[in-house]
Amino acid sequence: MFAQLQPVATDPILGLMAAYKEDPNPNKVDLGVGVYKDEQGHTAVLKCVKEAEALRLKNEDSKTYIGMAGDLGFNSHIEKLAFGQGHKVLLANRVTTAHTPGGTGALRVAAEFIKKANPNATIWVTSPTWANHISMFKAAGLNVKEYTYYDYSTKGLNEEGMFADLATVPAGDVVLVHACCHNPSGMDLTFAQWQRFAQLAKERGFTPLVDMAYQGFGSGLDEDARGLRYLADTVDEMLLCSSCSKNFGLYRERIGAVSVVSADSKISDIARVNLLSVVRSIYSMPPAHGAIIVANILDSAELTALWHQELAEMRNRINNYRQLIIDKLAGEGVTQDFSFITRQHGMFSFLGINKEQIARLRNEFSIYMVDSSRVSIAGLNHSNIDYFARSVAAVLKG
Ligand code: PMP
Repeated sequence: MFAQLQPVATDPILGLMAAYKEDPNPNKVDLGVGVYKDEQGHTAVLKCVKEAEALRLKNEDSKTYIGMAGDLGFNSHIEKLAFGQGHKVLLANRVTTAHTPGGTGALRVAAEFIKKANPNATIWVTSPTWANHISMFKAAGLNVKEYTYYDYSTKGLNEEGMFADLATVPAGDVVLVHACCHNPSGMDLTFAQWQRFAQLAKERGFTPLVDMAYQGFGSGLDEDARGLRYLADTVDEMLLCSSCSKNFGLYRERIGAVSVVSADSKISDIARVNLLSVVRSIYSMPPAHGAIIVANILDSAELTALWHQELAEMRNRINNYRQLIIDKLAGEGVTQDFSFITRQHGMFSFLGINKEQIARLRNEFSIYMVDSSRVSIAGLNHSNIDYFARSVAAVLKG
């Protein structure tokens, strides 16, 4: 039967990673993959994580199963981190959370949960969005539609287009919105636009699904969650998928969470058993390691302070490079306006250059980015930023 299988197209980013690895040019620059790198181009383990792992090694006394919802201490911390301590949805016991294998696991569980609640639901995603959103939701059997979001000509949000599309979404459908650091554009909603979104969700009766893969990478832990907190204040029900891959640097440990907000605590209890039955049918129980690391950090005031500091370092480094790109390109005599880069947040921005220029950067200069011109800003550092700016200037001049 396996002989019947047909080849499947792989994610273009994986091909890009392989090509980068094989490139012998010592000046090569990887701006493809969405992983934080420091000034040395290294994805280091955070110090707070190392300390939390040492604690775990010392204190762990059992490897028995942790249950379908995962680590309850972690779940409680992650709810407070996202919604803010004392948020009304937490006080009213309207939230149920399961820790999951990464943010991707959270999204897949959310998709299966939606399918249980409304088998005919369509999920609406931003145009464009993280490519895996679409393939994952389709794999879960949901209809997927896109709504207007990023405007490639203005390099900003097409607000009117977005709200015109969302005004057609019926009750019973789900609208995915990125909490912050939109992947791939870096273009986030302003607080006023979050308010408008929340009002529309309430009016139309669609259910928001907030994907928060980068809390703390944009403007700060609370600032990045401000929109979703307002949304949770306004609507009766929503879903939240969070990830600790980026903000705790725990990529390979696969730790994230899915939270369901229901209209009242009774519905929430029923939502909980449904959520757990989805978990049971996919992977039964999540891996514990990442959750316990995060819980150990957030249990300790000292480790939390260290984490805040390390997170701020990552955030500030990216934000500094956003400004540096603009300055260095201007220094190379580039006259095009790149000021949009500092109006965007998180790991990514579209450079807005064409396919031919992207190919030249790759073939002539060994600078790798995906074909949409999305660059992962954290791939830049003091030893490659000048080379990057010179090379971009060269391809822009033609
Ligand atoms: N959502 C978005 C928008 C992402 O960019 C990512 C990671 N690239 C994820 C979810 C999933 O993250 P992970 O599974 O690595 O935690």
